[in-house]
Amino acid sequence: MDNKKERLRSLYKVDEALQDECLIFFKENLPYPLVADCVRSEIRLLRDAILNGEECPPALTNRRLFFQQVIKRIQDKSAPSLQRVINATGTALHTNLGRSPLSQTAARRVIETACSYSTLEYNVAEKRRGSRQDHVESLLCKITGAEAAFAVNNNAAATMLVLSSMTNGRPVIVSRGELVEIGGSFRIPDIMELSGAILKEVGTTNKTRLSDYADAIDPERTAALMKIHTSNYHIVGFTEDVPLRPLKELGEKFSLPVIYDIGSGLLLDLKEQGIREPTVPDAVKAGADVILFSGDKLLGGPQAGIIVGKKTYIDQMKNHPLARVVRIDKMTLSALEAVLFEYLDPTKAAEKIPVLQMLTCSPESLRKKALRLKEKLPKKTPFHIDIEPCEDCVGGGSAPNARLKGYALTLHSDSISAQQMERHFRKNNPPIISHISQDKVWLHMRTVMERDIADIAASAALLK
Ligand SMILES: *Cc1c(COP(=O)(O)O)cnc(C)c1O
Repeated sequence: MDNKKERLRSLYKVDEALQDECLIFFKENLPYPLVADCVRSEIRLLRDAILNGEECPPALTNRRLFFQQVIKRIQDKSAPSLQRVINATGTALHTNLGRSPLSQTAARRVIETACSYSTLEYNVAEKRRGSRQDHVESLLCKITGAEAAFAVNNNAAATMLVLSSMTNGRPVIVSRGELVEIGGSFRIPDIMELSGAILKEVGTTNKTRLSDYADAIDPERTAALMKIHTSNYHIVGFTEDVPLRPLKELGEKFSLPVIYDIGSGLLLDLKEQGIREPTVPDAVKAGADVILFSGDKLLGGPQAGIIVGKKTYIDQMKNHPLARVVRIDKMTLSALEAVLFEYLDPTKAAEKIPVLQMLTCSPESLRKKALRLKEKLPKKTPFHIDIEPCEDCVGGGSAPNARLKGYALTLHSDSISAQQMERHFRKNNPPIISHISQDKVWLHMRTVMERDIADIAASAALLK
């Protein structure tokens, strides 16, 4: 009992502990209540241990250890929740890992605009109010060949705005084979309903013919024909769908606009790289009146929804009340402008935009990257390290069939399970996201950035 009392008396006092010089840095740089809470929590742990009659906790008599634990707690509590991870999955547009990473150039532009006042809606040359769309519209027109363009928050928002402004509660004709669910709660039929448009489904899941659209047109009521790129699945076998050109010809006969949700926003032809996705410039050439797509899929930019097409329709969208609801933010705009600027030279874009860089990487360069990582790993390790060919994906619901030939560094051990190794990497700071197959941990090199290599090597060195 006395022993207990004595120990309780020897406990650190909160105020005293907070005066310790090893906490000065944290008190200056972090919220004081957070630091104080961490000190209090560590003291409480010790007090509980004493009251429960547990063995004397080492931190009670070891001051250094006590403060080490406080600092560890402060670091855990102050780490940002949204943080960098290392993507070693080989999936370039990993939805859960933030889709496409920005280039340093684009990110620097964001910092510049975010930390100062900007020309967001100010025309410096003419000393008058400007439009935030001015920063990207002409670039988008130049790159895609469209007459006009409008950027919003994301492609789901673009879908809402396009349908609301172009249909006014009237029917839109869509093929049953194209009623996509993108993920989460985003389903095309639901968004249509929300926009007030009436979904007029035609054809069947596997086959839709031009005559199906033609038969469904009500010249008095129909507002538009809509095509949706089935970006995240593929129907194979006995199938038929209507390409853009014939759909456009049908639309022209009845003076109906053709809306095309192309999904991924691919601006360059990547067929040679094994990515068979429709491109926006091709869709403009084929006559689509309005095309919408994401900014952070194959375009490789920030989260955004981009609408390009005929000026009359785009003008209606600009003036629609929903335009404000789905408005694009200035940080997004500066990143988008920077990324679009790279597309002015298509031959260089694939080298400058991280996602395109990753997707167009040759297997040989990935093997070399794996070698560079392997050379950094400790020579004596408890696991077998190999460099093996693997298959990578585009991801982000794009090009579901594309399998890109890549290379992975694989780790296998007789003493540590693949699950333990995977967990070790995932708990690293920054977390390293890998995957397990054939009892091995696979680190796909396609999505590992140059700066990640040292972090992976350091984490692997701690594996025991
Ligand atoms: C991804 C996708 C969307 C949704 O785009 P977000 O930018 O994620 O809102 C809509 N339509 C298609 C066809 C898509 O592939």
